[in-house]
Amino acid sequence: MSLPIIILLIVIGAVVVLLSVVVVVAFVRSRRLAKVPALPPPCKCPACGSEQMDVFLSGLWDGEDSAGRGTGGTSQIGTCKSCGVHCQHLSVWDNDTKESRYESRVLTDEQWQRETGSAMRRQREASEQPFITGGQNHVA
Ligand SMILES: [Zn+2]
Repeated sequence: MSLPIIILLIVIGAVVVLLSVVVVVAFVRSRRLAKVPALPPPCKCPACGSEQMDVFLSGLWDGEDSAGRGTGGTSQIGTCKSCGVHCQHLSVWDNDTKESRYESRVLTDEQWQRETGSAMRRQREASEQPFITGGQNHVA
């Protein structure tokens, strides 16, 4: 095979992979939106069992399960008011049972910083420049 054909095949392969990822994400999103209204159970601290949590971040996430199928759900990251550990509560779409299940885990300092770092940076920038109107002149 000549080089241009190999490059062409690689490009086609990349496009196919990209398209399938987009389709899977769109499929998971639309299915999740149809199911979302079920309220998750109260967040329990994985370390001490307290339901009192200072939620720092909450939102949606997308990913893959252990079999490589698209999954996702809601995510809450916060600090336990009782024992002070950082923890994350996730709802995870289970492709086998076709239901969301819920997981709690303790975050290490490193994970906490990775999860919250960009949000903290945004908050700091917003508080330093409270009166931004229109376009930003200085992009860091
Ligand atoms: Zn706790």
